[in-house]
Amino acid sequence: MHTEERTFIAVKPDGVQRGIVGDIIKRFETKGYKIVGLKMLQVSNEQAEAHYAEHKGKPFYPALIKYIQSGPIVAMVLQGYNVVAGARHLMGATDPDSAEAGTIRADFAQLKEYNVVHGSDSVESAEREIKIYFNENELCNNGKSMSELVIEHLDNV
Ligand code: UDP
Ligand code: MG
Repeated sequence: MHTEERTFIAVKPDGVQRGIVGDIIKRFETKGYKIVGLKMLQVSNEQAEAHYAEHKGKPFYPALIKYIQSGPIVAMVLQGYNVVAGARHLMGATDPDSAEAGTIRADFAQLKEYNVVHGSDSVESAEREIKIYFNENELCNNGKSMSELVIEHLDNV
């Protein structure tokens, strides 16, 4: 049996500051993924270090920790079939210059140091990252299609 996955997505501070949050969220919504968690927050030092623990010690780590805290992020949990890999596909490669045209990073960014969006790289990473940014009671599962809304409405009038 197939089940839906969840992934952690963030519009990074450069995306928020540039006012392209809506454009980025739209890519994921248009694909059909369901937003089950969404908030703007200022990333704490603890959250930044937990989020990017795998990169500790790399040359770009200090700049990365500074970047992710350089302004608020818009954090999201998306749900859907194969959403972890699917969202990464929509995001494109880490370096916007290598990302395929049509992906978020190719279309909205120029530098890998300011690549506008984060997405978990595996189901395990997603579970770990979601817990860094969200409490379970902040996640909702309330999406409905238009046809479901129409039928529910007609059945109740
Ligand atoms: N990063 C960077 N320089 C590098 C590699 C990565 O500034 O040489 C940043 C970039 O913002 C990237 C993040 O560190 O999104 C995490 O790197 P990772 O390799 O996990 O890329 P991602 O999973 O975000 O594509
Ligand atoms: Mg990564």
